[in-house]
Amino acid sequence: MKMLAAGRVLALGGVFLLLWGAGQSDQGTGVISLSCPFPKPPQLPKSDSFQPRAPVGSHWTYEGAQGPEFWKKDYPHCGQESQSPINIDTEVVTFAPSLKDIQLAGYRKPNISSFSLSNNGHTVQLDLPSSMCIASLSSRYSAAQLHFHWGNDTARTGSEHRVNGMGAPAEMHVVHYNSEKYPNAKEAMREEDGLVVLGILLEVGDKNNPAYENILSHLESVAFAGQQVTIPSFDVQSLLPTELGKYFTYSGSLTTPPCYQSVHWIIFHQRVRLSLSQVGPLISAKLCKHC
Ligand SMILES: [Zn+2]
Repeated sequence: MKMLAAGRVLALGGVFLLLWGAGQSDQGTGVISLSCPFPKPPQLPKSDSFQPRAPVGSHWTYEGAQGPEFWKKDYPHCGQESQSPINIDTEVVTFAPSLKDIQLAGYRKPNISSFSLSNNGHTVQLDLPSSMCIASLSSRYSAAQLHFHWGNDTARTGSEHRVNGMGAPAEMHVVHYNSEKYPNAKEAMREEDGLVVLGILLEVGDKNNPAYENILSHLESVAFAGQQVTIPSFDVQSLLPTELGKYFTYSGSLTTPPCYQSVHWIIFHQRVRLSLSQVGPLISAKLCKHC
């Protein structure tokens, strides 16, 4: 079973205030060494998984009788009005010159030697250490995990967000939680100011993207739901666009059950390119145990 976002992409209505940020930086142009600017929260029991680690064969799917149109039966938040993903209509976006470049700390050299990569039955997920954070927001938002959404093929239908109706073959989400107020992403996901997710649309290009090999070369080990593998640490920022100053931002929701409306979305304007041979294994990953 593959990840299909079709049907969950909502037309942009009056519910969302979409802002467009471009290029305001107060850091100059030199080499910058950033650190997460707020003290660490008290050490509490830690759970970096924001998506419920549903048992294999779980209660919702992207197709069929448990598909998106039926999610609200078991997950009432999925029927609320500020649901993500959306189609970003640039005709109705408001330019916000006060928005700053997105600045990241701890991404280049995560302070752990290895990551956990897993297939949880809904997506392929890489757990991230809380020492990684977004350093340019008014609160500290620490990283929890990143994961992928994709479609049945390399057509531009696998991404969740679209811009002027144009999707992409896949989309990566880097999930952060408000670590000043909440002990982990699982707690934060229920709160209005709980999560910030970076969204990156992934296109097919001519060249291999070496940064993504850090993950994609291990996909065979998590080809089936329930599998997990430990992979060497790497520069996570290399997965992101080089231009972090142009993005769309709005308040929305988790794109999967329980659909809590707790996500401040940052969707980068610049898309990242992977080769066809790299995207292939991603869309071939199985999200059920007995496919
Ligand atoms: Zn996602």
